[in-house]
Amino acid sequence: MEAKTALIIVDLNNDFLPGGALGVAGGDVILPVINKLAGGGDYATVVATQDWHLGDHVSFETWPAHCVAGTFGAELHADLNQANVHAVIRKGFDQDVDSYSGFYDERGATNGLAELLKARGIERVDIAGIATDYCVKATAIDAVLRAGLKARVLLEACRGVGVHPGDIDQAIEAMRTAGVEIVDGTL
Ligand SMILES: [Zn+2]
Repeated sequence: MEAKTALIIVDLNNDFLPGGALGVAGGDVILPVINKLAGGGDYATVVATQDWHLGDHVSFETWPAHCVAGTFGAELHADLNQANVHAVIRKGFDQDVDSYSGFYDERGATNGLAELLKARGIERVDIAGIATDYCVKATAIDAVLRAGLKARVLLEACRGVGVHPGDIDQAIEAMRTAGVEIVDGTL
């Protein structure tokens, strides 16, 4: 792999894993896959995003309360080996604005991820984590269309919510349309 590739690990907060407020089925299965990727030495930088909401966050009108700052649910899962993670980018910390994307919130304010990657000379990103049809999708599309990066989504290292049948497939198509490469196979 080229030296200037980063791995972005999206939202492995306890609340998005089984047992959490918005637990995603199979979310725990991807943890060892992601640890192997992050520890394999292929990436110049490994960044984890962390959903991080103040109480009464605007997103709690759409979703159950989750990832409330300072709670266990907001912490990254203990089985994510953070020794391999060089930086954690928090998102959704503005009480009035949600941020599915790791890069920019819904009003376009940066979370600092694009700047961090640019400072490290990163040109390509591989994306893993939760959820394929929400924050992985938004992060991948922003990577290509707004941050000017080449991006791949590693499906074996992602899990989706699938509130409605077909949501995950539609998310994959939306990412492809935006120019994201979808890697669908054993890593
Ligand atoms: Zn959230």
